[in-house]
Amino acid sequence: MDYRDLSLWHATVPDDLTPRAPLPGDVTADVAVVGAGLTGLWTAYYLLREDPSLRVVVLESDIAGFGASGRNGGWCSALFPASLSKLARMAGRDAAIAMYRAMERTVDEVGRVVADEGIDCHWAKGGTIRLARSATQLARAHEDIAEAREFGFGEEDLRLLSADEARAVAGATSVVGGVYTPHCAAIHPARLARGLAGAVRQRGVALHEGTPVTELAPGRVVTPLGTVRARYVIRATEGYTPLLPGLHRAIAPVYSLMIATEPLPETVWKEIGLADRPTFGDYRHLIIYGQRTADGRLAFGGRGAPYHLGSVIRPEFDQVPRVFTALRHTLTELFPATAGAEITHTWGGPLGIPRDWCASVGLDRATGLGWAGGYVGDGVATTNLAGRTLAGLVLEQDSGLTRLPWVGHRSRHWETEPLRWLGMNAGLQTMSWADRREERTGRQSRAAQVMGHFLGH
Ligand SMILES: Cc1cc2nc3c(=O)[nH]c(=O)nc-3n(C[C@H](O)[C@H](O)[C@H](O)COP(=O)(O)OP(=O)(O)OC[C@H]3O[C@@H](n4cnc5c(N)ncnc54)[C@H](O)[C@@H]3O)c2cc1C
Repeated sequence: MDYRDLSLWHATVPDDLTPRAPLPGDVTADVAVVGAGLTGLWTAYYLLREDPSLRVVVLESDIAGFGASGRNGGWCSALFPASLSKLARMAGRDAAIAMYRAMERTVDEVGRVVADEGIDCHWAKGGTIRLARSATQLARAHEDIAEAREFGFGEEDLRLLSADEARAVAGATSVVGGVYTPHCAAIHPARLARGLAGAVRQRGVALHEGTPVTELAPGRVVTPLGTVRARYVIRATEGYTPLLPGLHRAIAPVYSLMIATEPLPETVWKEIGLADRPTFGDYRHLIIYGQRTADGRLAFGGRGAPYHLGSVIRPEFDQVPRVFTALRHTLTELFPATAGAEITHTWGGPLGIPRDWCASVGLDRATGLGWAGGYVGDGVATTNLAGRTLAGLVLEQDSGLTRLPWVGHRSRHWETEPLRWLGMNAGLQTMSWADRREERTGRQSRAAQVMGHFLGH
């Protein structure tokens, strides 16, 4: 496989992407990490930073940054997949606030590490603007602000924008308002993942690419190339988790797809704005997300690809022409100045959705098995918090992070098939249908609310 074809980011990362150093045979370590996405890499990074004497082995079936971590929209944001209200219901108001404050600090922690380690991931902390492009979308913007205020998050965290203020940031059509948060940086995902892989290697982590894990058990990780024996075994496989024995219903892999334009001329950027490279989206139900890249493209994505029966993952699912056409249409509708721009890259990948839509991290001290994941579409910064937390749990260091409400949280399993397939695709269809209906009638869709509730998000 030519890993350069995976995404715009893989095509433009200064790295030959040749898999290096597969597992040489049976080895012994202190910690074995399965998966070299950001979860696995951040975990290895903080373990070695805290204790340089640790023997840490990371096993990756393809290359570091092969999965969602190399392919995403590049929002390094403070977003967490469970809302403040939901976390408060789960664990209390203070715990919910602590989780959200930790996420805000995590964005800056990522910024600090990439600067310290010399990882040039095109970091630009320009915040996020979420546009309201109809009265119903504006109502949802007001709800967001009200929830933030109720939990003590002020203007400096989330600010309601007038139509003019919002348009001055992002010159999109039909803008009636928006919400701005400074807690987000735009990044080049493959540069971050590959740069971090280099940093962990330099610190002495044994990172083995081209090494698929077939079985995980207390004290043992099995691959066709050998077995790693370790006191601690950390699973960092996110959307690919259902492929591991016994974990078929732990996470549902749902595809998010993206397109990118050619670099756009300055005349077009004058109309669009996004001058500080804030990431952007709007308040429709079926999420869209975008960023102005450092080389002047628009990288733009959304959900809408079908969920595949049996949580199957296949390379061809990364390409769904119908969804790319819809994304192109939405992008042109948002920013008509992009109408003539060529779409140079299309790609996608699986993200991981737990049944209750709440990410989690944890370590079972008795078995030595740890995990982190279920980030839905908010994993870029959250993986860093996961890595620091897992390092704290392994090393038995209490920095406060190990007491956050997502630590040790367990979602119930997904339904058996075909119920999972029916529910998931009905949810995706309803969201998309509700957006079209809202556009036509201007009325809030009750069906989308009910379905959102059913899906638990
Ligand atoms: C298109 C897209 C856009 C997104 N946009 C954003 C965004 O803008 N902001 C944001 O915060 N989040 C975004 N996300 C989500 C985010 O990318 C993920 O939550 C995050 O990268 C998850 O990191 P991870 O390391 O847990 O998983 P992954 O990056 O998926 O890594 C898992 C790794 O494990 C390896 N692996 C799996 N099984 C095995 C095995 N058996 N043996 C060995 N190795 C194995 C895989 O090859 C892979 O490299 C997006 C996701 C997608 C797909």
